[in-house]
Amino acid sequence: MDIKEHVVSVIDPDEYNDTQNIDIPPMLIDQIIGQEDAVETIKKAAKQRRNVLLIGEPGIGKSMIAKAMAELLPPEDLQDILIYPNVENPNNPLVGVMPAGQGKKIVQNSKEQFKKQESRKNTLTIAIIALIMVIGFITNQFLTAIIAVGIVFFALYQIKPKNQQLAPKLLVNSENKKVAPFIDATGAHAGALLGDVRHDPYQSGGLGTPAHERVESGMIHRANKGVLYIDEIGTMDMKTQQELLTAMQEHKLQITGQSDTSSGAMVRTDAVPCDFVLVASGNLEVLDGMHIALRSRIRGYGYEIFMKDSMEDTPENRKKLSQFVAQEVKNDGRIPHFSKEAVAEIIKEAQRRAGKKDTLTLKLRDLGGLVRAAGDIAIEEGANEVTPDHVFEAKKQARSLEQQIADRYIKQRKEYSVYSNEGSKIGCINGLAVIGNSSGIVLPIAAEAAPSQSKEEGKIIAAGKLGDIAKEAVQNVGAIIKKSIGTDISNYDIHIQFVQSYDGVEGDSASVSMATAIISAIEDIPIDQTMALTGSLSVRGTVLPIGGATYKIEAAAESGIKKVLIPASNVNDVLIDKKYVDQIEIVPVHTLTDVLEHALVGPKKEAFIKSLKEKEEQRQ
Ligand code: ADP
Repeated sequence: MDIKEHVVSVIDPDEYNDTQNIDIPPMLIDQIIGQEDAVETIKKAAKQRRNVLLIGEPGIGKSMIAKAMAELLPPEDLQDILIYPNVENPNNPLVGVMPAGQGKKIVQNSKEQFKKQESRKNTLTIAIIALIMVIGFITNQFLTAIIAVGIVFFALYQIKPKNQQLAPKLLVNSENKKVAPFIDATGAHAGALLGDVRHDPYQSGGLGTPAHERVESGMIHRANKGVLYIDEIGTMDMKTQQELLTAMQEHKLQITGQSDTSSGAMVRTDAVPCDFVLVASGNLEVLDGMHIALRSRIRGYGYEIFMKDSMEDTPENRKKLSQFVAQEVKNDGRIPHFSKEAVAEIIKEAQRRAGKKDTLTLKLRDLGGLVRAAGDIAIEEGANEVTPDHVFEAKKQARSLEQQIADRYIKQRKEYSVYSNEGSKIGCINGLAVIGNSSGIVLPIAAEAAPSQSKEEGKIIAAGKLGDIAKEAVQNVGAIIKKSIGTDISNYDIHIQFVQSYDGVEGDSASVSMATAIISAIEDIPIDQTMALTGSLSVRGTVLPIGGATYKIEAAAESGIKKVLIPASNVNDVLIDKKYVDQIEIVPVHTLTDVLEHALVGPKKEAFIKSLKEKEEQRQ
C-alpha cells in the first residue's frame, strides 16, 4: 500500500466559499457546529424550562449552548425586583416584584414624592423660623428665638436624609431587556452567587445606610427568568451547592450577609425570586465533586447531555466548519475574511487535530485561536484577505505551551545528543510520546539485561520519571517475550530507563518500544537508530493502535529520524504536514515480529527472526 497517499489530506478549495460569502444565522443556537443532539435537547429544555448538565471536553461549545438557551427563553416573562425598607423590623427588608420596566418608575416616583414632601417641609420650616423671629422681635426675646431656630435646623438635618433613604432599592432591573438574562457564575463565591448584605460601620446612631439599601443581588437573582451557567460545578463548595439546590427548588431565596462578622449578617430579606434554569457543565470528573442531590435534581427535572469532541468528515460538516470560520471572523471584528483556500487549510487542520480517520475535531475554541492568529498575521502584513500562507505561519507562531515545550525539548536533545539518529545500538530505542494533546516528542528508552543474581527471580529496575509505568509494562511484555522468543525474563535483572523524560509525558503507548529494547538487550542484537516507533502491545503480541500518530511522526521527522513504525490500524489517522512527507518513511506494523524485523540490525538478526517465525508457525 502506498502510505504517502494516506498521510497528506487533500481538500479541494473549489468546494468552499470565502468567508465573506457565507451567511451567518442570526440566532446563536444555529451557530453551534457539530453538536446536533445537544442542540435538539436544549431546544426542548428551553421550551419546558428544564435544567441541563453538559458534560464534555473544554472548548467544544458548552457555554455557547447555555447562552443560546437564554436566547430561546421568552423575554416577556422578565421581572424587576425591588427591596423596600421594613419600618417595623429594619433588619428584615421587604421584596417587591413587578413586570420589567416598572421598577425604575416606582423608585423615581417615590424619590420625587419625597422631594415634594421635602420642599413642603422646607417652606413650612422657613415660615416657622420667620414666625419665631417675628415673635422674638416683638417680645424682645432674641436669645430664645435664636435657640429655637437652632433646634428647627437640627431637626431638619436629622429628618432630611432619613426620608430620602426610605425610597425602595431597585435590586434587579430588567428594563428594555430583549433577551432573557445569561449569567455566567463560574467560580463565583457564595456572596456573588447568592446575594449579600454589605457591612455598615455606622449602623448605630442613625448615621448609617439603612439595611435595605445595603442588600446586593446575587447572580441567581439576576438570572431570574433566564439561564444561570456554572462551569466546573464540582469545584463549588458543598454548602453553596446546597443553597443553590434550595434556590432551584423554591425559585426564590432570602438574601443575607455572607460574612458572619459583618453587620450585614444581621439583615435577612424576605425571599427574593430566582426562577432560573441551571445549565451546569464540566468534564466527567466534575461529577465527583457535585452535590448528589443537585445532580439528582437535574436528572429528575432536566437533561444530561454528553457532548461530542469530533464529528464525521463529510462534505456537509466541512461546510459547517467554513461557517465556523466566518463566525469567528465576524465575532472577532478585527481580522479580514478568509479566502476559500485558507478555509480549506483550517478544515485540514481540523482533520489533523481529530487524530482519527474521517473525523473533524470539534474542539473549536482552539481552532478559533488558529483562525484569529492567522487573521492577525494577515493584518500585520497589511493583507485584505487571509490566505493559506497566513494559516501556515500561524500554525508555526501560535503554538500551544505544550508545543513550545516540545520544540525546546527537541532542540535541547539534538544539542546534547540525548538520542542518536544514526547507526545502531544494543538496548537503545527511539520511542515516541505525546505531550498535551498535540505535540509529539522522541522518547529514548534504554534497556540493560544481566543474568539474575538471585536464584528465584530476576528484578526489574526502572529508572526515570516513568518508572512505575515502565515496571508494569515490562511485566506485561515479559509474557510476550516468553511466548515469542522463549526467554524467561525472570532469569534476568532488567534495567530500563526512559532517558530524560519528564512530567506530562504519557508512557502507555511505549510498550512496543520497551519490548523491543529488552529483546535487543537480552539477545544482544543492535537496534537501528535511524528509526523510531510507537505502538501498544497486546498480550498476544499484536500491535494495538495509539493516539497522536500524526504528531509523533512529525516529531520524529523534526528530530532527523528517517523511518517510523506505527500500528497498521493507525495508518488512516495519519495526516502529516506536506513538508514531512519526503523526510520520513512510515511503516505500518501488525505484530511484534514485524517490529523486530524492521528494528533490529546486524549479523545475528537473520537467524533470530527466522527462529521467531518458526515458533510462530508452530504455535498456529
Ligand atoms: P466550553 O464552554 O465548552 O469550554 P465555549 O462555549 O466557551 O466552550 O467555546 C468557546 C468558543 O469557541 C465559542 O465562543 C465559539 O467561538 C467557539 N466554539 C466552541 N464550540 C463551538 C461550536 N460547537 N460551534 C461553534 N463555535 C464553537
